[in-house]
Amino acid sequence: MSTTKTQTIDLSQLNFDPDTLREKYRQERDKRIRQDGLEQYQKPTGDFTGYVDDPYVEPGFSREALNDEVEVAIIGGGFGGLLTAVRLREAGVKDIRMIEKGGDFGGTWYWNRYPGAQCDVESYIYFPLLEELDYIPVEKYSHAPEILAHSKAIAEKYQLYDNACLQTEVTEIRWDQNISRWIIATNHGDTMKARFVAMANGLLSRPKLPGIPGIDAFKGHTFHTSRWDYAYTKGNAEGGLSGLKDKRVGIIGTGATAVQCIPHLGAAAKELYVFQRTPSSIDVRNNATTDQSWVETLEPGWQQQRMDNFNIIATGGQQDEDLVNDGWTDIFRNLQTILSAAGNSAGMSPKDQELAMEIADFQKMEGVRARASHIVKDQDTAEKLKPYYRQFCKRPGFHDEYLDTFNQDSVTLVDTLGQGVERITEKGVIVDGKEYELDCLIFATGFEVGTNYTSQSGYDVIGKAETALSKKWANSLSTFHGMHSHSFPNCYFIGFTQTGYTANVPHTLNEQAKHIAYVIQYGLDNEVTSIEASLDAEAEWVATINRLAGMGEEFYAQCTPGYYNNEGKGNGGNGFLAGQYGGGPVEFFKILDDWRAAGDLAGLEIR
Ligand code: NDP
Repeated sequence: MSTTKTQTIDLSQLNFDPDTLREKYRQERDKRIRQDGLEQYQKPTGDFTGYVDDPYVEPGFSREALNDEVEVAIIGGGFGGLLTAVRLREAGVKDIRMIEKGGDFGGTWYWNRYPGAQCDVESYIYFPLLEELDYIPVEKYSHAPEILAHSKAIAEKYQLYDNACLQTEVTEIRWDQNISRWIIATNHGDTMKARFVAMANGLLSRPKLPGIPGIDAFKGHTFHTSRWDYAYTKGNAEGGLSGLKDKRVGIIGTGATAVQCIPHLGAAAKELYVFQRTPSSIDVRNNATTDQSWVETLEPGWQQQRMDNFNIIATGGQQDEDLVNDGWTDIFRNLQTILSAAGNSAGMSPKDQELAMEIADFQKMEGVRARASHIVKDQDTAEKLKPYYRQFCKRPGFHDEYLDTFNQDSVTLVDTLGQGVERITEKGVIVDGKEYELDCLIFATGFEVGTNYTSQSGYDVIGKAETALSKKWANSLSTFHGMHSHSFPNCYFIGFTQTGYTANVPHTLNEQAKHIAYVIQYGLDNEVTSIEASLDAEAEWVATINRLAGMGEEFYAQCTPGYYNNEGKGNGGNGFLAGQYGGGPVEFFKILDDWRAAGDLAGLEIR
């Protein structure tokens, strides 16, 4: 029990000691810090190249090479690409070609079909274009198949299958100065031309593997969660993995993906071993089917309003009502309670405001830890499942069956005390000198993050005067508003490339899509040859990004390692946070809105 009092916040009523928790968080972080940082991971090469193949299409697809021309080519058929295409359609652009590596639209929801795959963000704000499609999701938190179906419905409604190149992997795009067109080369030998190119390659799309010694020695069956092998496990995204009933299954990783598939593995496998390095925070899910009487109350414009409401609250702003009202915004509700008890934040020193936020966070995470004790019967296992870090140090998890899975006799949590799996052998996995023999080993080890942009996209962009994006952005991004980059005219980046990060990712993608559509529409209406960020505008934006980058640095430096803080190495270079505007998404969206409202395309050179 703490007796410390600050000027305005009374800590005497807390049922935890902030200093003890701070020390515990520090210890838990320190034992996980590794010198090799990002280098601990490897790309799925060698025996693992199949991990990036598309298991959802017939192998051997081929078609005639294309060398035609389109007005706008969009690379990526996930939400970023779809939204950009839709906003362009609304602006009257007819000649659009979608280029997508997968066999269909959907992006992350095309690839991730593991059992239990579900969206952690409320469907009513997460699904793009609900009002445009006159669609309401079935549940508050949707399962993957419905999200994939919605992606296809968007593509159908806006005729994006017409002229699309699916199962097509871009290998390079190159600006041809003589004709002011981009030449897009692909794995089908295409050399298509496009006047404008928008790249929505997606984040967290390339599976990554841990560089665990002996990783290629295992003789049993293995796969990565993003290419779930249903031929082996049987069942589908809803579970029913009957192929595992006589199998000893191991899973490495306990991130957001593992949290969703582990209950299904636990239900099906003869034995399940969960190899944990850092526990996720597992908050309540509390899913519900959509209430039709609520749907009937919705007025036009409701979705944008709900998205804005969530975004403002989830970034610490105030709204009269919390419309989404879930585990993402909980912490901020706690904060408001603390601030009100302290006579509200007006006049409170920044230090005290920070303290109030930290206390709100401690309260949230104490609740998450208490939940583990409450649900998991074996208290030693419960203790191992408790996360000791601030809620947004890692991607928070939400699940109502995950913790209970560890009450099954057939399920064993193998906690690695923050060190990770020691070694993989022919027969299984070694932790702390003990070998766990397995028939099947599943990698729930996430996706490439923090490496440079072209490593993640898988192709280079060659702009004016042979400028290669791989070189220009080798060590860090350099953009104007996150979407343009000098030397790359008529070319737009969509995603976390010095833009405003939102927990509800499609929200920021939509704001970028509107912006890009505005610029391209201007280009088409005015028959311009090229639109390019000026060096000055870009330098100013990069300086702004760098100036504001400090805002999250201190917070993440104290976090347990993960992709949010570049595996504990800080967020310079290509780190996840380096791709974000430090002023937050609300401010970022306003910058874009104001820029468009001014109508002078300041910072762009038009030829
Ligand atoms: P993550 O990168 O979040 O998790 C990877 C896991 O692998 C971590 O638990 C990590 O431990 C563990 N790991 C890595 N190396 C080792 C090792 N050597 N030994 C043992 N464990 C190891 O990947 P996910 O696929 O879970 O999630 C990626 C992202 O996808 C999420 O952060 C989220 O943004 C998104 N997602 C979203 C969902 C949604 O609802 N919308 C659902 C699922 C995913 P450690 O933590 O110690 O690094």
